[in-house]
Amino acid sequence: MLDDKSLIDKVKAYDEDVNVKKLQHACDFSKESHGTQKRASGAPYYMHPLEVAHILADMKLDSDSIITALLHDTVEDTDVTVEDIEHHFGKEVAILVDGVTKLAKIEYQTEHTRQAENFRKLLLAMSQDIRVLMVKLADRLHNMRTLHYIKSPQKRARIAHETMEIYAPLAERIGMQQFKNELQDLAFEQLHSEARASIISRLEYLRNHGDINIHDIVSEIRATLTAEGIDETVIVDGREKTPCSIWRKMERKNISFELLSDIMAFRILTNNTSQCYQILGIIHSHYQMIPGTFKDFISTPKENGYRSLHSVVMGPRQRFIEIQIRTKQMHEIAELGVAAHWTYKQDRQYNTDGKQYKWIRELLYILEHAPDSEEFLENTKLEMNYDQVFCFTPKGSLVALPKGASAVDFAYEVHSDVGNHCKGVKINGRIMPLRTQLHNGDQVEIITSESQVPSASWERFVVTGKAKSEIRRYVRAQKRQEYIKLGRSLLGKRLKEENLKVSKKHIKNALKLLNKRSIEDLYASCGESLLTADEILKAFYPEKTFKKTRRKKPFAILGFNMERRKQSESVPIIGLKPGLAVYYAECCHPIPGDTIVGVVTTGKGMTIHTSDCDMLANYSSTPERLVDVSWGKTASDTGFISRINVILSNESGSLATLSNVIAKQKSNISNLKIVDRTTDFFEMIVDVSVKGESQLDNIIRSLRTQKAVHSVKRGK
Ligand code: MN
Repeated sequence: MLDDKSLIDKVKAYDEDVNVKKLQHACDFSKESHGTQKRASGAPYYMHPLEVAHILADMKLDSDSIITALLHDTVEDTDVTVEDIEHHFGKEVAILVDGVTKLAKIEYQTEHTRQAENFRKLLLAMSQDIRVLMVKLADRLHNMRTLHYIKSPQKRARIAHETMEIYAPLAERIGMQQFKNELQDLAFEQLHSEARASIISRLEYLRNHGDINIHDIVSEIRATLTAEGIDETVIVDGREKTPCSIWRKMERKNISFELLSDIMAFRILTNNTSQCYQILGIIHSHYQMIPGTFKDFISTPKENGYRSLHSVVMGPRQRFIEIQIRTKQMHEIAELGVAAHWTYKQDRQYNTDGKQYKWIRELLYILEHAPDSEEFLENTKLEMNYDQVFCFTPKGSLVALPKGASAVDFAYEVHSDVGNHCKGVKINGRIMPLRTQLHNGDQVEIITSESQVPSASWERFVVTGKAKSEIRRYVRAQKRQEYIKLGRSLLGKRLKEENLKVSKKHIKNALKLLNKRSIEDLYASCGESLLTADEILKAFYPEKTFKKTRRKKPFAILGFNMERRKQSESVPIIGLKPGLAVYYAECCHPIPGDTIVGVVTTGKGMTIHTSDCDMLANYSSTPERLVDVSWGKTASDTGFISRINVILSNESGSLATLSNVIAKQKSNISNLKIVDRTTDFFEMIVDVSVKGESQLDNIIRSLRTQKAVHSVKRGK
């Protein structure tokens, strides 16, 4: 019978410093919170967290994990809050329980098998502390052990499927072979009970007919080793493979059970690594090895840290058998994964170091920071996909996006129509700016409106190619409309001046003459100033002569600023040729302190860009136009214009806050433009005059501390 006392005794046996009072408190707290709740089996609910705690205590986990196991369903299923847990059991436990609760909210949808890998990544990424994942796996293991109590067959199948696709592979990935085997077998039993039953009965038959003779083979290998002087501390062990792994092999190799040779597996557990190779030599000299089957995972461990030698040989009685050779320590790590690592660390560090459970933090640290380390831990890499985020639609479908993706990227990922009409977003139920960067597990609801159209300003923060190209396509089409409008009015004005009218025939002739397909093309060319109004007029009336008129600059009419700022004389740029005219790029607004690159344009001079400016990509095929330049040392009195992007809450006084902060940093706003405006937020571009990078940094930093400022960053 599992009870509080046996749990506490179990923990005490490996952790003599355990806080018994706290552990008992956790038992009482959980029992009381779950009250009269019952499991599907009819047992008091408390038996479930208690069993989960036992599973983890069997793996000798730290007491915070044990306490987390006891409390893991309280926040999800009772009135208890994370704050209550922090109050009673401290911050560490509260964080762990919160982590497990968050994982519980993620439900894998059975139909999307191809999303399984994304789900595993999401769970890994969300389990920032690996103990969260271990508690979750133990929780799942106990739920699988009691799965038969659940009445609904659909629900049983869903849980089993999820276990097979998500949790068993996760257990394997963090190296917990025992967990993986049991989870897999329980799920297999649920999903393919007939296949499992027939494999089991077949195994039974073979056993009864002496075809599975594990004991004899173990004895023979043992005798062979003894004859070669290997003592009894080396353990020889044999087992049948699990029905699930036999079934998978049958499926994979498309062969029947009769033809399947390796239904038995043998293990030799040694005392040290060199003994592994010594014993491999003995085995290979006594039994014929099967070419191509030898694998050395000791010198090249698997991704999850697994180390062992594998070889298939023609064993006793002329049967193929697989033999795995590894040290006892490698074996324990293979079976228990990171949990085993805890045991080893504990032996060495436990008594000297107050922070006895440091290993998990160390593990995570190494996982994150030392990919080249030679240590075991190096290979226990959790595949935390730091370059991806996983979010959900309101219906629970998973959307994988590159890191840094915004709500607009999400909208385009769902459908280009959703992107083209998105007008707002709710993230986890709260209205947020469209440019908000998404985080793992965010639930994203895009608000659309038929009248909404893409904004060119979105292009500055979207990261996915799909969003970028859709926005560009729209902006191009919109620009064409503006050119058409402008061209029509320019042409109309000239026709009026000349007091002329155009007939269909005039147009037809002109299109042919100028090689255009439609009157819109003609207008657009005029608006874009590829053709002048006079040239078109001439095409309408080839026989007439017109007075020359001054060519207008349509750009100016469209509001494009073609003026460029002259270099301020006081901060010299090093690397310039004498006499070269210098301009500062309007796209990136370089200021002293930035790393800069010069772009040479023949006959024009040089334009200075910041080295991370997107425009530089345009010169990748003509690198000779790029010149290495840098700022000189002289400080400048004259300001440089620098750009920042700010999102302010739409509330009274927020604009005043902005200008006050900038004034306090002794800077001046030289231009301010509202890019986007919703009921909740203002998005604006603010050009400020600064002396250099450090002043700009100060402005950005002090803006960040303001409540009215939602976000701020250096603009382009
Ligand atoms: Mn549970």
